[in-house]
Amino acid sequence: MREPLKARSLLDPRSLADALKMLRDEGPLTPLAGCTDLYVSLNFGTLKETRFLNLWRLDGLRTIQMRGDRLAIGALATHTDLIRSPLVRKRLPMLATAAREIGGVQIQNRGTIGGNVANASPAGDTLPVLAAADAVVVLQSAAGVRRVPFTGFYTGYRQSVRRSEELIVAFEIPRLSGRQWFRKVGTRAAQAISKVVMAGVVDARHEHPRIAIGSVAPTVIRLPMTEAAIARRAPIDEIRHVIASEIAPIDDIRSTADYRRRVAANVLARMLEPVGRSRRGSTGG
Ligand SMILES: Cc1cc2nc3c(=O)[nH]c(=O)nc-3n(C[C@H](O)[C@H](O)[C@H](O)COP(=O)(O)OP(=O)(O)OC[C@H]3O[C@@H](n4cnc5c(N)ncnc54)[C@H](O)[C@@H]3O)c2cc1C
Repeated sequence: MREPLKARSLLDPRSLADALKMLRDEGPLTPLAGCTDLYVSLNFGTLKETRFLNLWRLDGLRTIQMRGDRLAIGALATHTDLIRSPLVRKRLPMLATAAREIGGVQIQNRGTIGGNVANASPAGDTLPVLAAADAVVVLQSAAGVRRVPFTGFYTGYRQSVRRSEELIVAFEIPRLSGRQWFRKVGTRAAQAISKVVMAGVVDARHEHPRIAIGSVAPTVIRLPMTEAAIARRAPIDEIRHVIASEIAPIDDIRSTADYRRRVAANVLARMLEPVGRSRRGSTGG
C-alpha cells in the first residue's frame, strides 16, 4: 500500500560539503540518488525510513575522469552516463556492457552506479564488474575521505562497511590488461533481475585472471579457486567443476541452485573460449 508522503521529510543540499554536514548534524538521513530502488519500496509501502537527503543536484559527483592512472567514476554517474562515456568504453568496456543491460532506458537515465552499489543487492549488475576490476570505493564524511577495496565493501546480505554519516562519492579503477567480459543471465534480456551475473578479466597469458559473480551468494563474490585453475591453465572441464563447487547458490523464486551452478559453469566456459569463438558478452579491452 502507498504511504502518505507528508510523514516524510527531504533535505536538499546544494553542495557535497552541505550534504556531509547534514549527514553529520541532522542524521540519520537516507541518501536519495536516482530513486529507482527507493521508489519501489515507497510504492509497496515497505520503506521504513522517513528522513531523506537528496543527492541529485550534486553534479560534482557525476564526473567520469582519469585520476592519475586510475579511472574515477562519480557515484552519481547514471547508467546512461556509463554507456556514453568514451573513457568507460575504453578503460572498462565491461561496465558499459553491464549498464546497457540494466532495466530499460528510463531506469538507465535515472539509476546511478552509487545507488546500485549502496543498494547492495547480490543481483546488482555493476557489482561483479567492480569486483573483477579490483575497484576501490571512495567514501566521504564531514570528517574526511577513506578508500575501501570493493571486495571488502560488503560484509553480508545487504550489509556494507559504509557508515551512516558517509556517502559513496566515487569508484576508482586501476588500469586493467586483458580481455574483459560481462554476462547476465535472466528470464529475459531487459527488465529482469539476473539469475546469474558474471564479469571477468583474463589476459592472454592467464596471469591474473579475475572472475566475479553475483546472484549466487549473499553478496557479490570473487572466485579465487576458479581464478587459480584458470591461471594454471587447467582443462576447461576441470575449470567447470571448480566453479560449480566453489559457489553455493540457493533455490529461490527466480531459479534453482542446480540451474545457477550449471549456468555459471557454462558462462565461464564460453567466456574462456578463444577470442573470436566467444561472441556474446565479450567486450574486448
Ligand atoms: C524497473 C526496474 C528495473 C531495474 N533493473 C535493474 C537491473 O536490470 N539491474 C540492476 O542492477 N538493477 C536494476 N534495478 C535497480 C536500480 O535501478 C539500480 O540498482 C540503480 O542503479 C539504483 O540507483 P539509484 O540512483 O536509483 O538508487 P536509489 O534508489 O536512489 O538508492 C538506492 C540505495 O542506495 C543508497 N544510495 C544511493 N546513492 C548513494 C550514495 N552516493 N552514497 C550512499 N548511499 C547511496 C540509497 O540510500 C538507497 O539505499 C531496476 C529497478 C527498477 C525499478
